[in-house]
Amino acid sequence: MGSRSERAVLSDEDKERYHRHMMIAGWGETGQERVKSARVFVAGAGGLGSPTTMYLAVAGVGRLAICDCDSPELSNLNRQILHDDSRIGMNKAKSAKLTLSALNPAIEVEPISTRIEAENVDELVGEADIIVDCMDNFPTRYVLNECALRKGIPFVHASVWGLEGKLTFIHSPETPCLRCIFPSPPPPEVFPVLGAAPGVIGCLEAIETLKYLTGVGETMKGRLLVWDGVEMEFTSYPLRKDPKCPVCGGGAGQG
Ligand SMILES: [Zn+2]
Repeated sequence: MGSRSERAVLSDEDKERYHRHMMIAGWGETGQERVKSARVFVAGAGGLGSPTTMYLAVAGVGRLAICDCDSPELSNLNRQILHDDSRIGMNKAKSAKLTLSALNPAIEVEPISTRIEAENVDELVGEADIIVDCMDNFPTRYVLNECALRKGIPFVHASVWGLEGKLTFIHSPETPCLRCIFPSPPPPEVFPVLGAAPGVIGCLEAIETLKYLTGVGETMKGRLLVWDGVEMEFTSYPLRKDPKCPVCGGGAGQG
């Protein structure tokens, strides 16, 4: 990993706040400095975005950008724990900032209330070190996937449905990209979600992000993790690049 920004120095307060992190093998002060120096772009402040950003915030990610153009609705509150009844109608990114800044006043939270499109994604993501996919639709995920490839930064992908979840760590062209794995989008639908399911998978997205930033452990590069909450099983499958992928393969630029 190489944070694009200058290495931040830990304050005495940081050393106390993140003491239990720095005790993790391989993490230490250097790892925590990398986390503090990082800019993470989280796309979506919903079911996945809630636990992901809350754990990235308390982990001390120095600059946390959170992008969502929608507003919380009552039917979101079974899972979107960044928000509460008093935030209904507010922009989700702005509501997220209130929650995240209260959890950790020492970090910079950047709320972005713009809809992510192919035309603006490069500017919105800016100098981020990593993109975290907390979206609920594939068209936007594809836009983020291509942006990550152009910028040469990783893209943590996850999704949930009911009591199931999926996750992988994409750093294309080294790994398969999202199009290699899911060549066409599933039809849009209002799908069932147990609130704690994005809790499980969002926490894993935060862990993957922090592992990449610190260099601790192995990410889910080239593997798809599938969580079946009905049978309570985690299974991982190897992934292959599609040589004809229109985004990262031999077909790139021809589609
Ligand atoms: Zn691909």
